[in-house]
Amino acid sequence: TKEYLKKKLDKIDGKGYKAYKDLEGEYEFEKFILYIDHVQGDPFAPPSRIRVKVPQNMADFEFSMYNNPSRQVALEDFLTRSVFEVIKSLPPLKGTGHSGDIYIDKGGQQIIKRSAMVVNKEYVEARLSIGLPAFGRRINGSGAQRIFLEFLPQIVEKSLLKKSLNVQEIWLWVETLEDQDYLRSQLKERGLVAFVADGAILPRESGISDRPLKDGNVVPFESPNSLRVKFQLPNRGEITGMGIPEGVTLIVGGGYHGKSTLLQAIQKGVYNHIPGDGREFVITVADAVKIRAEDGRRIEKVDISPFINNLPNNVDTTRFTTENASGSTSQAANIIEAIEIGTSLLLLDEDTSATNFMIRDARMQKLIAKKEEPITPFIDRVKQLYKDNGISTILVMGGSGDYFDVANCVIKMHNYRPYDVTQEAKKIAKEFKTNREVEGNNEPIVIKPRIPLKKGLEVKGKKIKSKDEDTIRFGYQEIELDYVEQLVDKSQTNAIGEIIRYIASKYVDEKSSIKEILEKVYKDIYEKGLDVVSSFYGKHPGNLALPRLQEVAAALNRLRSFTVK
Ligand code: ADP
Ligand code: MG
Repeated sequence: TKEYLKKKLDKIDGKGYKAYKDLEGEYEFEKFILYIDHVQGDPFAPPSRIRVKVPQNMADFEFSMYNNPSRQVALEDFLTRSVFEVIKSLPPLKGTGHSGDIYIDKGGQQIIKRSAMVVNKEYVEARLSIGLPAFGRRINGSGAQRIFLEFLPQIVEKSLLKKSLNVQEIWLWVETLEDQDYLRSQLKERGLVAFVADGAILPRESGISDRPLKDGNVVPFESPNSLRVKFQLPNRGEITGMGIPEGVTLIVGGGYHGKSTLLQAIQKGVYNHIPGDGREFVITVADAVKIRAEDGRRIEKVDISPFINNLPNNVDTTRFTTENASGSTSQAANIIEAIEIGTSLLLLDEDTSATNFMIRDARMQKLIAKKEEPITPFIDRVKQLYKDNGISTILVMGGSGDYFDVANCVIKMHNYRPYDVTQEAKKIAKEFKTNREVEGNNEPIVIKPRIPLKKGLEVKGKKIKSKDEDTIRFGYQEIELDYVEQLVDKSQTNAIGEIIRYIASKYVDEKSSIKEILEKVYKDIYEKGLDVVSSFYGKHPGNLALPRLQEVAAALNRLRSFTVK
């Protein structure tokens, strides 16, 4: 009980820090059970991990607030943010190292399933990290008493009981998220790959902030008549906006008119966003993949031959391997890997593409004969990808009109407003022939799934651990994820590290493909919760947020020791 915890704290006050280890265990409070799962070794070590479990009859959230996956994620997210707010309002505790820090892993602008909070019929459980207070290396017992006996009960009282929360706001969270998931589930049926609501705010505060730009000059999104579609959402009712159809869509327009901003909003539209973000109803098919050039990355036996052939020195491009890819080979590999794992929409921006991968105009075709050029440019494959593989493309292209021939929708951005210029572009394409030869062949792109080998996933040296949002330490190696743009949360990166460890010990059997292996993990997660991939399953699992299959595969593909059959 909590009295027992108090006694323990009295006893270890002023002792060496290691005596804190005695606290590990569980304690019953009036309204919750406290689990002290892991105690840090010293005040500078990563903080201690605890869980606070409130029985549902005490928390009192009605079942309808979490009775489907969308609602459950929304309520969990809401409570996590509430805990965060209460923590922020607590008085600081001074001391050495992380003394007195209390932390919960709240997300950013996206709402993603995360391990910080679990809500079910039995209980509400928050997973916190705490820097146990110390002066030097001595235990600050009275500080610890404040945290456990004063602050934690306050956190529970103010943020985990329905009666203390703004129920209207909870419903706003729950219903908005449900509407987002619903809209996403309707896209295919309507022949769309993305939707951008009228009134959406797309630009962000800055290049390093994902918050909405707050500025008198922000232009809210306004759909062109010809592309305007309507949806009937379960909670919000009718919503209108621009529907981007399946097929090949170009976003054109002058520099600085908002092309990349639109594409970036669409690429994040695979996730749901918090109310107030401005992109709540920018919704993209869930498996969309941003494709970009990424020179320097490693490639492991990827069949890039649909795009690249006849490299110097007779390099085999059907099992292309390199430690140092070029712009075009990396971009080709990124596409093939996306197809291998499954995607229905590719997103490309001229700003981050290799020019020679995207275009090859008539004059260049004259000067450099096809047999001297290994690359079949994307322009000659993009229609085929849709026709044969059912994969649509949205492409930002302000620099070349050659793509008019292959696009079935052309959107022009002008002063941050979209215009449908498809007819005009088609007319121009008829009047001004490009005179280029179509390259490549008509053979459909068929990808043979690769089968990972065990030896490439052995961890040598230190553990698997994420260093920051874009880097996973994997033994002595580092997996660089800077250019995996749809990875949006540090805790997703954490989870990817755990997932790789999990599959290596469980599912890499040298018979299953990458996709088959990952599907098994996601089935486990679906059945047992995200905690299942943690090495601390059953306790505080660490700070995890659910990544997409696409990003987990991206991490494997960038692991330098990764090998396939
Ligand atoms: P492009 O790709 O067409 O060159 P960007 O999308 O990079 O243009 O946008 C240029 C600038 O305009 C960016 O700083 C962006 O934040 C800002 N911006 C984009 N959309 C809007 C908007 N709707 N309202 C106000 N500013 C915007
Ligand atoms: Mg741009």
